[in-house]
Amino acid sequence: MNEKSDLVIKNAAELLTCRDDARDLIGVIRGGWVAVRGGKIIAAGDKGEVEPLISGETEVIDAAGRVVSPGFVDCHTHVVFGGTRVEEYFAKIERLSEDEIQRRGIRTGILTTLTPTREHTLEALYEETAERVRDMIISGTTTVESKSGYGLDRETELKQLEVNRLLEKRLPVSVASTYLGAHGVPHNTTKERYMDFLVNEMIPFVGKSGLAEFCDAWCDEGHYTAEECRVILEAGLNAGMRPKLHEGGYSYIGGALVAADLRAASADHLNYNPRNSLRKLAEAGVVGVPLPGIDFAVGHDRPFDPAPMIEEGLELAIATNCCPGCWCTSMPFIIILACRRHGMSSERAIRAATIAGAKALCREKKIGSIEPGKNADILIWNLGRHEDIAYHYMTNPIETVIKDGRIVVVNSRETLI
Ligand SMILES: [Zn+2]
Repeated sequence: MNEKSDLVIKNAAELLTCRDDARDLIGVIRGGWVAVRGGKIIAAGDKGEVEPLISGETEVIDAAGRVVSPGFVDCHTHVVFGGTRVEEYFAKIERLSEDEIQRRGIRTGILTTLTPTREHTLEALYEETAERVRDMIISGTTTVESKSGYGLDRETELKQLEVNRLLEKRLPVSVASTYLGAHGVPHNTTKERYMDFLVNEMIPFVGKSGLAEFCDAWCDEGHYTAEECRVILEAGLNAGMRPKLHEGGYSYIGGALVAADLRAASADHLNYNPRNSLRKLAEAGVVGVPLPGIDFAVGHDRPFDPAPMIEEGLELAIATNCCPGCWCTSMPFIIILACRRHGMSSERAIRAATIAGAKALCREKKIGSIEPGKNADILIWNLGRHEDIAYHYMTNPIETVIKDGRIVVVNSRETLI
């Protein structure tokens, strides 16, 4: 090979390739080297493979004593919203009764942030969201999925999806955009009428607009039934959007069977899923996305258990689920929770945050691992071994963030974004 590189990272204490074909879960190479050219990885391995690709023009970063990993793929967020649910958060922590919550006039649930999200201008909504997304980038996220679903009317849902487009245009991050009209039902209509609006108007319109690549719904008691979700997701498929599904978060009502039948990209939450439903998801190649952040934020009475999911062969991704009910922008914090609270190994959690997250977004051919041909989305850590990612509760353990071959964060917070 006589192609020289733009950038080389040499001598990592541990290079976590996270290749799908690695023998372990994260493809560790001790003393690993990586070469980048034109925003893509052109080589990853030992010194002998990479050193010949260095020329006088190559920027060389010495990663001695440090871990090098793929950028994080945060595959489930509701990061575009206005307002806050801080009053509800503390009402629940203090275990206020329903009567007391009502007496104090505290609003709860996803409709709380509907009004501010509707009232924000596009730019105001962008600015509030961009602040959170910059924090995600500093915390190592190089691809983020972002759902609509806090407007539930045509104008606001399209505004949320437009913010997704602007985030990708203006910030060094890739954005996978998801239409989640079936996140709730607006107060001023019936579910039947709203379903009709979704299936016959909004979903075909969003599909044509090209503003979303996935269509999502919330399958749970008190939300949408499995059959309603099937109708919504089939309309999404007809409009060119791949299905995703929130299911099993607070009850199990058969959502996994719909996700499996429709070959959804992912089924997310999974707190209440029976074992046979996990097997169905695994057999259909659906990625399971349990969400440690929301289980923590709501003090979930049934935190997800990864053990039966792993036993049934489900590929597991994890994500921040950044939303007004779980104000989390940090994938390292999610890894810490996944390990400490849910019993995942550090390797399982790192895989879930990288290559498995890429699979949950159908982008595993482009991102999620460090191997030739992939986008050069790479993190350099102020840590010497991968277990420390889940063991050191640091403010920000990531020294350098590289997006598409370009250094966008240096010295943890001295950002170029
Ligand atoms: Zn969600």
